[in-house]
Amino acid sequence: MKVNRRNFIKLSAVSGLFVAGASQTKPMLNAFTKNTEAAAKNEPQGEWIASTCQGCTAWCAVQVYRINGRATKVRGNPNAKANHGHSCVRSHLALQQVYDPDRVKQPMKRTNPKKGRDEDPGFIPISWEEAMDIIADKIMDLRKRNETHKFSVWRGRYTALNGILYGNMPKIIGTPNNVSHSSICAETEKHGRYYTEAYWGYADYDHENAFYELMWGADPIASNRQVPHTASLFGKLKDQAKIAVVDPRLSTTAAKADEWLPVIPGEDGALAIAIAHVLLTEELWYKPFVGDFKDGVNRFVAGRTVNEEDFEEIQTYGLVKWWNIALKDATPEWAAERSGIPAEQIYRVARDFGRAAPRAISFMSPGSNMVVRGGYTAQAMAALNGLVGSADNVGGVICGGESCPVNSFPDFEKYIDSIAANGNSMPRADFGGRKLEMPAMNAGNSGGIKPTNTIADSILNEDPYSLEVVMSYWTNFNYSNQGTDRWDEALAKLPFMVHMTLNPAEQTHFADIVLPVPHHMFERLSAVRGSNGNLYRHCHIQNEIIESPFDVRIDETEVPWMLGEALERKGFSNLIDYFRNEFVDPETGKKPTNGKEFNEIATKIYTQPLWDPTIEKQGDVINGWEEYKKIGTWNSIPYRFRQKWNGNWGTETGQFEFYSETLKKALEAHAERHNVNVDKVMEATNYTARGELAFVPHYEPAYRVGDENEYPLIFSDHRSKLNREARSANTSWYQEFKDADPGDEAWDDVAKINPIDAKKLGIENGDMIKITSATGSITVKAKLWEGTRPGVVTKCYGQGHWAYGHIASLDRKKQIARGGNNNTILAPVHEALSGSGARHGGQSRIKIEKV
Ligand code: SF4
Repeated sequence: MKVNRRNFIKLSAVSGLFVAGASQTKPMLNAFTKNTEAAAKNEPQGEWIASTCQGCTAWCAVQVYRINGRATKVRGNPNAKANHGHSCVRSHLALQQVYDPDRVKQPMKRTNPKKGRDEDPGFIPISWEEAMDIIADKIMDLRKRNETHKFSVWRGRYTALNGILYGNMPKIIGTPNNVSHSSICAETEKHGRYYTEAYWGYADYDHENAFYELMWGADPIASNRQVPHTASLFGKLKDQAKIAVVDPRLSTTAAKADEWLPVIPGEDGALAIAIAHVLLTEELWYKPFVGDFKDGVNRFVAGRTVNEEDFEEIQTYGLVKWWNIALKDATPEWAAERSGIPAEQIYRVARDFGRAAPRAISFMSPGSNMVVRGGYTAQAMAALNGLVGSADNVGGVICGGESCPVNSFPDFEKYIDSIAANGNSMPRADFGGRKLEMPAMNAGNSGGIKPTNTIADSILNEDPYSLEVVMSYWTNFNYSNQGTDRWDEALAKLPFMVHMTLNPAEQTHFADIVLPVPHHMFERLSAVRGSNGNLYRHCHIQNEIIESPFDVRIDETEVPWMLGEALERKGFSNLIDYFRNEFVDPETGKKPTNGKEFNEIATKIYTQPLWDPTIEKQGDVINGWEEYKKIGTWNSIPYRFRQKWNGNWGTETGQFEFYSETLKKALEAHAERHNVNVDKVMEATNYTARGELAFVPHYEPAYRVGDENEYPLIFSDHRSKLNREARSANTSWYQEFKDADPGDEAWDDVAKINPIDAKKLGIENGDMIKITSATGSITVKAKLWEGTRPGVVTKCYGQGHWAYGHIASLDRKKQIARGGNNNTILAPVHEALSGSGARHGGQSRIKIEKV
């Protein structure tokens, strides 16, 4: 490595190159200590600079207080409407991330060719030039063999500029294998909305005007993506509305709710279907939206079929079919047997929910439907908004509307040569669509989703071929996917992997090249476009607020630029030609000459419609690029309700669909692709539905891995209000305040067991226990807690890092984790219709033993 003066100063400013000496000392929480000497001398006290938090997918506009070149505080950006000018508690943890002494500080390469958890990678520092040359050689080797499809880009947390590294670059190199992390997180809830009202995305909620909120596994004042929006209005909501939370765990929101329904994990669908049954039998559906019987006489009587001709629908389609196929026998008493919730409570919630129509919200979250058989559960939860007329209505749920007016990146087709075209035409490595058992349908398209967790199987089985060269950024797939052990095996088998990462992580341990990246909130310029929040669309800026103390390059732009230059040196100039020729500064007309300029020009191209006052749009008018960077956000006008009413739902019928012709068409297309019928698709995807049941929201019994006799308890995974997508575990604030999660403890990782179960097992508070599933085992501390439903063990996701840093681990050098990673005991199963990882719904049975 060439150590120049800049590098030397940077490297001297922090302790160690990569892994400093192990220490278990708890750092002091003194980051905000006042500099009284400076204040007394009246020295400049700094300024607030706009940026964006990406601690979760809310993507809130924030401001960072910079003083003497250092970021010291974070707050919500008062100019932002989607998050009410507020940020949540997790945003502050970013300060400890950016100054984490465990961060990767310069490029490194592996010297030990053997890979495995027990192998020391033997990383040594190298220059950026050497790193790029090594990667370029690997890509050129694939080109020589006409096998560029064996190149792959894996994407974790990203910004609007991902269209370069993740979108266009793989096509120019010649691979269909750009794989996102998205299916790990949330696709099933999108499935529910798409097959009722043709919206593939996250919903927004009109809390301001709601009178009832029924939250399915959602904890939106703590860990859901809607935290600043919901928390800002929660007091008002408590005054004017009733809140019911369905969750096997007493979450932060459940503790403040009017009703807590501690459901048996994975049985939420029974509740949703029974609530629909009550709404119909008790004539509580919202007639101005749904319609009515032609003679005004309600024929929805438990156990009886209804003649379709007798009912006239207005905004909806297929209500009577739905009733006849899936609802007529689903009484609260029937649901009580399956869900573990008393029938009286189901009646009460259903009636209160119906009486609040149309200002009644069915609010679903991944916890309720990222479940093996959760696709129809998500559909049922979305359909409830149709029954009470809150879909696209005041006090209800917003699914869709126009998106932010931003530009695409320049066309790249002419830079795809014949070798790349051949690579692009090869089948994908993931299983989406090409396997009968994995329809993975994004917006109705078989294989529209790339199921992330199937990549491990693809590598292990060389199915359909072996990936050889991977560039992966802001990922940690052998930590964040279920079935972590098989990911370790797959990564050990992978011939060459580049890991672009903030912290050395579990995935880094298997890397050949490690590249340090800037922290998105403080160290790079970019933009982030969010979905609706508080009725506003928005696109925020990320500013380079501080000079990074480390030798970082921007993953999505500077790295592809340097790689383009390296490929050019080796005889392939298409990538750098595309960047040099097609990206033109919309203000100055200049073309980029280096990666930094490329990054700025790409950001300006993408956001131009937002800051160029001559471009018409419905929202803030901003006078130029510099003003946009300063304000930090663009807000649209507020959403206008009922845009989808009267035939604009976008479904096959144009109506809000209870009987989903849209899903029928999608399933039939996937079945045809594999020369089978829809029943075979149901069978292959672990669903029990056959015939017409496959096209309506219906109850599916919970799917569990592990024999009940051997594994008597059900494991339920949940989120923390402090997790920045599991990247904050190496901050002392995360550990110190971990007890902010109900039932959890500071500096620890606990499995929460109901005292009734603990007594039977002879387990006491604080005992160390081994939790074993059919997939793996972890050892953690037992916590006796009434907030967990009997028969269930709940545990927060986010601990169990063995290679993330000295705070995240008990002993980083010996790879001793603090607690256990839930993904080690969760089976690698999917909700296959959406291609989503199915980590919830009590998918794994467990046994626990004292150790
Ligand atoms: S963690 Fe999520 S909700 Fe909280 S401020 Fe950041 S982006 Fe917003």
